[in-house]
Amino acid sequence: MKSIDTKCVQAGYKPKNGEPRVLPIYQSTTFKYDTPEEMGDLFDLKKSGYFYTRLSNPTLGALEEKMTVLEGAKGAMACSSGMAAITLGVLTVAGQGDNVISLSTIYGGTFNLFGVTLPKLGIECRFIKHDENLVSELEKNIDDRTKLVFAETLANPAMDVADLEKIAEVCKKHKVLFMVDNTLITPAICRPIKWGADIVVYSSTKYLDGHACSLGGLIIDGGNFDFQNNPRYPDFNTPDNSYHGMVYAKDFKDLAYITKARVQYMRDIGAQMAPMNAFLTNMGIETLHLRMQRHSSNALAVARLLHNSPAVEWVRYAGLEEDKSFGLAKKYFDKCMCSGMVTFGIKGGREAASKFQKALKLFNIVTHIADARSSVLHPATSTHRQLNAKQLEECGISENLVRLSVGIEGEEDILEDIQQALDKSQRR
Ligand SMILES: *Cc1c(COP(=O)(O)O)cnc(C)c1O
Repeated sequence: MKSIDTKCVQAGYKPKNGEPRVLPIYQSTTFKYDTPEEMGDLFDLKKSGYFYTRLSNPTLGALEEKMTVLEGAKGAMACSSGMAAITLGVLTVAGQGDNVISLSTIYGGTFNLFGVTLPKLGIECRFIKHDENLVSELEKNIDDRTKLVFAETLANPAMDVADLEKIAEVCKKHKVLFMVDNTLITPAICRPIKWGADIVVYSSTKYLDGHACSLGGLIIDGGNFDFQNNPRYPDFNTPDNSYHGMVYAKDFKDLAYITKARVQYMRDIGAQMAPMNAFLTNMGIETLHLRMQRHSSNALAVARLLHNSPAVEWVRYAGLEEDKSFGLAKKYFDKCMCSGMVTFGIKGGREAASKFQKALKLFNIVTHIADARSSVLHPATSTHRQLNAKQLEECGISENLVRLSVGIEGEEDILEDIQQALDKSQRR
């Protein structure tokens, strides 16, 4: 399987002779064994197999395998949500007294996790800007307790494209783990591991599911990071007493990270994806490649309309030649597809934003993004309303920012809806 399109459809579940063609939903918390010795070996991680769905389950396993193939990775773990994936992903390497470095332009939920919740556990987060000082800021902030650097491929909702290769270079130099949230771009458009990321995380709630049916998250392990002999990660090189002294880097080599994430943190925290959600997400990915093409072409048309509209102060869409991220989008994104997310500043601020949202017919006001249906949101009064003016600015959000999640409906209808709502937004 060479083409990403074929992998979307066929990777993962492989039925044997006479088995169901479609991935079955293993709606079972538990699995049966003939002897206590076999069960014991599973608990000791001497053998791999299923025994309790909090740790793994065949339906989840098939989804994990599909994503592993799509990313060109070594392993994956499904989680109950994107936030669960990011939380478990960070805890796998960081604890009290450690720090992580993140771009400041990230999803609001992640911003809160890093800025408020992780510090309560003794993990400090250092936010840096994605500008011309990126490399020097990274260099300045990395110390011997820095456990990972975090970025979103396409920042939600700031719409900046991260310079993956540049960040990866600094991480490699300091032997620090590089984690990328690729939620808005998906493996149908960009595979961050190829550009130097070590770990990729997803909210599968968005484009992977694609239909706003099921919450979920994924952690993907590229398997290229060398934890062995790396003094930055003693937990990977010293015995784990909860597993009779097993040493992750030595015993699991290129699967050290994802194994630790599962057998330690998923075991203890239990934020597992439900089998039904894994089934729906797996089915969603079967059309991911087609949907991302349509989301991207529709969104580009919307961005062009907005760019030419007198009711609009500015537009951010990396696929527009005028956009500051266009060069990076061309480099990192297949065919310069930039997903369905578009943001713009509406003339008239909060009031015009409100009129615009009310006038839309096809676009619904929902907290969700990245599904087949077009939707609209005003972050300053919804997802990001807990942030103060300064934090909003740090996240790259202005008061007049409107976020569109352009769906896969017909382009003509989408453009007509936007145009009539823009007109009404400017009336007194
Ligand atoms: C939605 C989102 C998340 C959080 O995912 P949930 O599935 O809602 O927990 C994380 N990162 C990005 C970029 C997102 O858009």
